[in-house]
Amino acid sequence: MWVDTHCHLSSPEFDTDRDELWKSAREAGVSALVLPAVDIDDCAAAAACAARYPGVLPAYGLHPFYAAQMDEDDLARLAFLLERDRPCALGEIGLDGIRQDIDPERQKALFLAQLRLARQFDLPVLLHARRALDVALACLRQTRVKGGIAHAFNGSGEQARQLLRLGFCLGFGGVLTYPGSRRIRAMAVALPETALVLETDAPYLPPRWLREKEKARAAPRNTPAELSGIGRRLAALRNVAPEHLAAVTRKNAEALLPELAAQNQSALSE
Ligand SMILES: [Zn+2]
Repeated sequence: MWVDTHCHLSSPEFDTDRDELWKSAREAGVSALVLPAVDIDDCAAAAACAARYPGVLPAYGLHPFYAAQMDEDDLARLAFLLERDRPCALGEIGLDGIRQDIDPERQKALFLAQLRLARQFDLPVLLHARRALDVALACLRQTRVKGGIAHAFNGSGEQARQLLRLGFCLGFGGVLTYPGSRRIRAMAVALPETALVLETDAPYLPPRWLREKEKARAAPRNTPAELSGIGRRLAALRNVAPEHLAAVTRKNAEALLPELAAQNQSALSE
């Protein structure tokens, strides 16, 4: 059974068919899903999804895309929600070097403030670091959180090593199916299996086959059911059985997110 360690199931893009989507994900062998929130309202939406769908775990955080529009009280609200609800992780948080329109210093201040919250509440982090990994690594070294997942990892071997040393696993998803993603594929094959977790980032980053099937649409919608196809693709690249990769990546995710392990235990004993 697969674990999708990063899926925005609370996204409005899923409002019309969320029940069916989670059902087809279960049928595709996805037994658990981590749902990172992107802003304060999304924390409530993530919690509502988790209450409705067994196997869905919410994480709370303020995404760097919202750094410009967040108001002063958002961090205090986030701290309140972390204390009250104890989500499985703090995320999605980080830095985005592609969105130059969002002040990098503001992004960094928001990221550091949330890393301090991760320390305070002893929570792992779901990290977004796009063309900003070295700065993100410096922030992580400065705050020393307990670790987490570097979502949609797209860095160098040296950056991978540094993240592993800081207690992070690296998230791989649909991007590794793109013809041009040779470097990411090479990385996903070369890394030790203890470093890997899988994710869809749905509704974003659709795997290649969805893009081919829905050529007419500018950006086809990704769904959590695609995780099994992505996992099978990575298993083939690594020359291991899909069941083996599913078991190993689940174990890695459970080691980082104790709540995931606890949930799995209670599902087994039912
Ligand atoms: Zn995301």
